[in-house]
Amino acid sequence: PSTAEPATKVVINLERLQQLPAEKVGPLARYAATIQSQRGDYNGKVLSIRTEDLRSLAIIYDMSPGELTEQLIDWGVLPPEARPSHEE
Ligand code: C2E
Ligand code: C2E
Ligand code: C2E
Repeated sequence: PSTAEPATKVVINLERLQQLPAEKVGPLARYAATIQSQRGDYNGKVLSIRTEDLRSLAIIYDMSPGELTEQLIDWGVLPPEARPSHEE
């Protein structure tokens, strides 16, 4: 499809996030770190965040939520299964 659809389940790969350069993932990395801190959740390899957070992050990255979903899959931060069309 020409219009990418936003992920319905946002499960961030934290190990992959740490490997990417800060100039790309800085805002996302800070957002994830803030949520980890608010939850006291520091031990996971992944972090599940709210669908609503994807909309906030899309504004920060100046993309649509669907475009940001594709970008995050491209970076390996979200798995390809995050695409709504790949839902089980
Ligand atoms: P799932 O949602 O597919 O998550 C699989 C595993 O990913 C979890 O195993 C956990 O190790 C990790 N994980 C996912 N999100 C986070 C996160 O935000 N932080 C951290 N630290 N780890 C995360 P776990 O904990 O054994 O849970 C197994 C399954 O039990 C989950 O599969 C889910 O279906 C259910 N579950 C666990 N906690 C919750 C919850 O708070 N709400 C709901 N609705 N289901 C939960
Ligand atoms: P809050 O929004 O007032 O949520 C209070 C508690 O309700 C959370 O404590 C958590 O135990 C539970 N809770 C709320 N929504 C969900 C949900 O969708 N799934 C599950 N499994 N539990 C939920 P917790 O985790 O210690 O978080 C403390 C505060 O940190 C939250 O207060 C919220 O202000 C912030 N926070 C945590 N995770 C996120 C997130 O993914 N996105 C955003 N925007 N804020 C978050
Ligand atoms: P989940 O725990 O399986 O929750 C799935 C959906 O149920 C959430 O999607 C939200 O729409 C609804 N939900 C669950 N608990 C609450 C609640 O206390 N208040 C409200 N208003 N809605 C609730 P959403 O928001 O996209 O979150 C996706 C996943 O992100 C959650 O899956 C959970 O794994 C994680 N998450 C989100 N917020 C929190 C939080 O505050 N604390 C923790 N520990 N995990 C959270």
